[in-house]
Order: sequence, then C-alpha cells, then structure tokens
Amino acid sequence: MTKQIILAEEMGYCWGVRRALDIITKAGNVEQPVATIGDVIHNPQIVERLKSQGVATAESVAEAAEHGYQRVAITAHGAGPARAEDAKSRGLELIDTTCPLVTKVQRLGQKLVRQGYYLVVYGDSYHPEVRGIIAWSDTTRAVAAKKVVDLPWNCARGLGEEGGIEPPRKVAVVSQTTKNVDEFLHFVGELAQMVARDGGEIRICNTICEPTSLRQNALKKLARESDAILAIGGKKSSNTARLAEVGRSYGIPSYHIERAEEIASDWLDGIENIGVTAGASTPDDVIADVVRYLQTLGYAAPDTEMLDYDLEVVPNF
Ligand code: SF4
Repeated sequence: MTKQIILAEEMGYCWGVRRALDIITKAGNVEQPVATIGDVIHNPQIVERLKSQGVATAESVAEAAEHGYQRVAITAHGAGPARAEDAKSRGLELIDTTCPLVTKVQRLGQKLVRQGYYLVVYGDSYHPEVRGIIAWSDTTRAVAAKKVVDLPWNCARGLGEEGGIEPPRKVAVVSQTTKNVDEFLHFVGELAQMVARDGGEIRICNTICEPTSLRQNALKKLARESDAILAIGGKKSSNTARLAEVGRSYGIPSYHIERAEEIASDWLDGIENIGVTAGASTPDDVIADVVRYLQTLGYAAPDTEMLDYDLEVVPNF
C-alpha cells in the first residue's frame, strides 16, 4: 500500500494572525517591552518566545500601566474604542494589530445601528472580537447570540401571546469572522422566521472572513481525500478540537493532537492517506514536526507545500 501525507490547503495561523505577529515582533524591544492586552495567540510556547523578544502580555491597559509598560498593543481580534482612549489617557503608546477584516465588521455594525437596525452579532458573547464589535456599535440595541434562545425576544413578530417579546421591526445580523458558514445559515434562517413577519425587515451580512471560508472548504476537501485526519493544536485550542469534530462529522476518523508522540499506532492501521490540518494558533514548525514523524512511519512527503502568505495582499473584504 502507498502511504501518503496530504496537507490541508489552508491551516494553522490565518492571514490576520500572521500579520499581527509580524507587526508585534517588529515592535518588540527587550529594553522597552510592549504589552499586548490578552494573548496575541493562544499558544503558550509562542507567548514565551515573544516574551524573550520584548513582547509581554497583560490583562488590561491598567495592569500594563501598573507594571510600568509604556507601550500596549491591541491584538488581531480588535477591541472597543475605550481601550485606545484608556491608553491615551495614561500616556501610553498604542500599537493596533486589529485584523482589517475585523475592523470591517466593527464599521459595518456601527453603520447598521446608525441606519436603525437592532444589531445581532452571531458569535461567542465572551470572545474579544464580538465584544469589540458590540462596543464599537455604541448602543444598547445590540446583542451577541449563537442560538435564537440567546436573543432578547422569544416569539415571531405578530405572533406574540401574553408574555411574548417580539423582535424589533429592523434587525441586522453580522457574524464573528471565524464562525462556520453552515451554522450561521441555520441561525439566520431561524432568525428570519422571527423577524420577517408583520412588516419586519432583516438584513443578513455574512462577515465570516475569506481565510476562514477557505479553511472550512479545505477541510471538506481534505476529508474527501483522506482515510484519517490529524488536527494539530494545543489541547486548549477549541478551534483545533472543532476541526477534528468536523472531520468526524464527514465520517472520517479524526484526532486532535498536540504533538506527534500522541499518535497511537492503531490509529494508522490500514490508513493509506493521512490528512493533516492545524488550528489557528498552531505554529508552522509544530506542523512540520508531525509531517516529519509521519514520514518516519513510512508515509510519503506531501505533494504540496504549506501555504506561504503574502502579508501585503489583503484577503477579499
Ligand atoms: S478576521 Fe479572519 S484573517 Fe482576520 S484574524 Fe480573524 S480569522 Fe484571521
């Protein structure tokens, strides 16, 4: 049997995270470190590596100031306007690495609110990107939701019974940039059922970013070509766990691993084509280690190279 490694066409750091790492690494200075507010990336090894290059992490601008940092940075997820104001009021230099594709959603949310829409952000309410989008919308008429039960109304327009709370007349929805398009479509379908009655208007803006869409399509393709899939990423990386989960949903045995040594020998019994993908916070060298290990087990090197991003080329907006 010919044993082959197949790489997902898109995996690992997305364009926005690579861009943010590039900016922050260039700004790093051991003499005058910069503190990012929150981790640039959820990967303990990279956070440690950055620390040695003069890039530290703080929970808030206040904490960074207390520890004597003169420079703070916003991560690729972005933040509400209060963060920049806080830094300015404390006389700190601010480095903004917000992904331009996140900035687009922040501005769109603002615009929709100004046009009179109630803004729904499809995403995780605790996630910094979602919190930033809501903060920029500068209104109490905005909510984050992943299911219609998370919304502040509980029945369709015109169908409210006693105790029922109907949606407002104009509702717009945007998505967290990293969400799954099929799940987003399911959500907006249910939302439309509630809003688009009795004169209601709904505006659906798919703001899942292009790198995320390409990544989801790459996983579908990988599942078609592979007998099993390895999703590489830290144990705490929920998006890596999700990659393995989606792989399994396509009927392909899929495993979430942090390092090559975790590959159990029976996982590869009878596996000819082994697919390799990685979460958004997995460094390229960790992926390369797994590929090398598979080669020692008799798998042929992948036919394709890992994608080389040109940071100057902004993905489609
Ligand atoms: S918007 Fe897309 S490209 Fe930008 S940081 Fe988020 S996932 Fe990455």
